[in-house]
Amino acid sequence: MKTDLIIIGGGPAGMAAALAAYEKGIRDLLILERDKELGGILNQCIHNGFGLHTFKEELTGPEYAVRYMDMVEERKIPSLLNTMVVDVQGGTPCVVTAMNREKGMFKIEAKAVVLAMGCRERSRGAMNIPGTRPAGVYSAGTAQRYVNIEGRMPGREVVVLGSGDIGLIMARRMTLQGAKVKLVAEIMPYSGGLKRNIVQCLDDFGIPLKLNHTVTQIHGKERVEGVTVSKVDEKLNPIPGTEEFVKCDTLLLSCGLIPENELSQGAGAQMDDTTAGPVVNAKLETTVKGIFACGNVLHVHDLVDNVSIEAEKAGEFAADYILNGEEDWGEAVRPKIPEKSKCTLPEGRDAGSQIICIGCPVGCLITVNKKEDGTLEITGNTCKKGEAYARNEVTAPVRAVTSLIRVKGGSGRVVPVKTAGEIPKGKIRQCLEEIGAVVANAPVKTGDVLIQNVAGTSVSVVATGNIPVGNIPAV
Ligand SMILES: Cc1cc2nc3c(=O)[nH]c(=O)nc-3n(C[C@H](O)[C@H](O)[C@H](O)COP(=O)(O)OP(=O)(O)OC[C@H]3O[C@@H](n4cnc5c(N)ncnc54)[C@H](O)[C@@H]3O)c2cc1C
Repeated sequence: MKTDLIIIGGGPAGMAAALAAYEKGIRDLLILERDKELGGILNQCIHNGFGLHTFKEELTGPEYAVRYMDMVEERKIPSLLNTMVVDVQGGTPCVVTAMNREKGMFKIEAKAVVLAMGCRERSRGAMNIPGTRPAGVYSAGTAQRYVNIEGRMPGREVVVLGSGDIGLIMARRMTLQGAKVKLVAEIMPYSGGLKRNIVQCLDDFGIPLKLNHTVTQIHGKERVEGVTVSKVDEKLNPIPGTEEFVKCDTLLLSCGLIPENELSQGAGAQMDDTTAGPVVNAKLETTVKGIFACGNVLHVHDLVDNVSIEAEKAGEFAADYILNGEEDWGEAVRPKIPEKSKCTLPEGRDAGSQIICIGCPVGCLITVNKKEDGTLEITGNTCKKGEAYARNEVTAPVRAVTSLIRVKGGSGRVVPVKTAGEIPKGKIRQCLEEIGAVVANAPVKTGDVLIQNVAGTSVSVVATGNIPVGNIPAV
């Protein structure tokens, strides 16, 4: 089998690279994806917060993915799903070895290859937490997949280790799905997540964030029965005498992401110790001829919008290479990696009058003073949206809710949903109860209204993903 361009991975990076190469005139191209659908990690990120730059809207992960999937489909860019790539070699031609159920193991020759395989989470083994090996220890991303795609709960009483955005988001997701999240432990003196996520994922639900703390022991034989959480000193060593036993049946680990490097290394690409991904030049070409890289496989990105921008460039450069032949490789150029966020909420903050804005990732600290005449004086906001947010927050706080609705007769058990607008914070529990009581019939499409007037708010609940007809039983 021969083609001009192969893209390995059908997440946001792979789809954006394919679309950009197509726009440059490459018609003979193929996306190889090991999962049963395109979309990558976005399919399980059912929360809001994607696409503010690319689409100037706040979308959920599946909504962002569906927009790209639609563009791929409109252009009839082919993809092979349920297909795992096991080896890539560069050169003229590049050779990709892949396998799936229908074809078994097969090889495809291509003039160029774009690596877009994303990243993986650091495992328990990589963290050396002592204790037994009971069931109930999950990486946060695995738990996210169980809940948001498989429609299953990994546990009921949860401790989260790691306060990056994924840990914070999973603390909220588990709470919204009915679990009790006992605490989030963070070894550093700050959270690696955004301030707005500390507010809307932890503070909103009264989940404690223990900075300078880590899990030092896992208890339980068959199933997790609890963990020991200890304070750490400035060298991050546990301080004896600070141990606290926390009863739980589940430990979620959210302790960092690493690019999926097997294929890059197998191809002989030189690796960069700083980004943990392959070394690339200004054209995002690795040190192996004809192999380009983008997205989380190149370096871990916080924002999907930046993944899309970088991947478009990789697609264009790969197309240039195919159409115009190779140029001098030039010199290595390290991608610009945004500084890791180091967030703490201001100590001693009066939550009634000092508000962290959750309107965008900046997280302004806004002060609201009630004047004698009853009007509100709002300071500290850097945009109009911030002022409106603060005003609402002290008078009638509102939130958008994302969750899941069970599906009957579909190719998946649950469909992600969101409230079509914000609802009063005090109505969230009732909204979730109504969502939990509904079972939709497949097919369900993005935008379908599944509940009208949820919790008497006059806001509807709409699907944010597609569930075609299938035969997976509902939960
Ligand atoms: C939990 C979580 C929350 C996030 N929240 C936000 C947010 O609120 N806002 C935001 O902007 N960004 C967010 N992000 C970041 C953003 O979603 C990612 O940066 C982006 O999805 C990365 O895109 P990618 O295509 O590089 O990787 P992925 O989306 O991981 O796609 C990689 C694809 O490659 C496939 N693949 C891997 N290996 C192979 C192989 N050998 N053969 C075939 N296929 C393969 C995988 O199955 C996958 O589909 C979040 C990320 C996570 C994990």
